[in-house]
Amino acid sequence: MDRKGILFVISGPSGVGKGTVKDAVLERIKDMRLSISVTTRAPRQGELNGREYFFAGEQEFQDLIEKDQFLEWADVYSHKYGTPRDFVMKNLQSGLDVLIEIDIQGALKVKSRMPDGVFIFIAPPSTKELQSRLCGRGKDSQESIIERLASCEKEMEHMKYYDYVVVNDVVKKAADQIEAIVMAERCKVKNIKIEVI
Ligand code: ADP
Ligand code: 5GP
Repeated sequence: MDRKGILFVISGPSGVGKGTVKDAVLERIKDMRLSISVTTRAPRQGELNGREYFFAGEQEFQDLIEKDQFLEWADVYSHKYGTPRDFVMKNLQSGLDVLIEIDIQGALKVKSRMPDGVFIFIAPPSTKELQSRLCGRGKDSQESIIERLASCEKEMEHMKYYDYVVVNDVVKKAADQIEAIVMAERCKVKNIKIEVI
């Protein structure tokens, strides 16, 4: 039976482990297509253009906005990030599932445009643990960590707009739960293309 492509959106507060959990999910679900975002932030050590992100200048990003190339875009902690529309739409139309990992404001914009998507909120086990992860990954300044923790409180209020919540206490457990969500969504009758005989 042919299936419709399903859009899966993973989001949650900064430092909760979205990127880590996303990698674990992609390791298991090989036929899931990952949407690579465009960003104006500089590449970090080890990041490759077209693998983690498409890195763009401010003007290039602005041109993409004006050409309506983004499904959504947002300012996230001083840099712009956008989800390329064509990649998502083409894969879904071909019956392939697409995973996007974006911040909460981006996820809510996608939901307003694509309400059939499956929205998964990754929640921290506690604020203390979130703080320890933000400090532990060593990517953010003290000031930026304080800003992210303050945003987290407000961001948790948006959980109610999502279809699922997965608490990332242990990565394997979170990935197990997301895998179960993906498999269940794939079995939904509304996602099967029923041929008219
Ligand atoms: P996000 O993409 O949400 O900003 P990351 O994936 O960068 O978060 O994770 C933030 C930090 O927390 C990283 O150092 C990562 O290794 C760590 N981390 C992620 N998930 C867990 C977990 N379940 N337990 C402990 N540490 C975790
Ligand atoms: P980082 O710069 O640490 O890779 O990502 C910073 C934040 O931007 C993360 O919360 C990540 O989920 C979010 N992000 C990445 N790509 C996109 C995107 O295309 N759109 C939006 N709205 N957020 C994104």
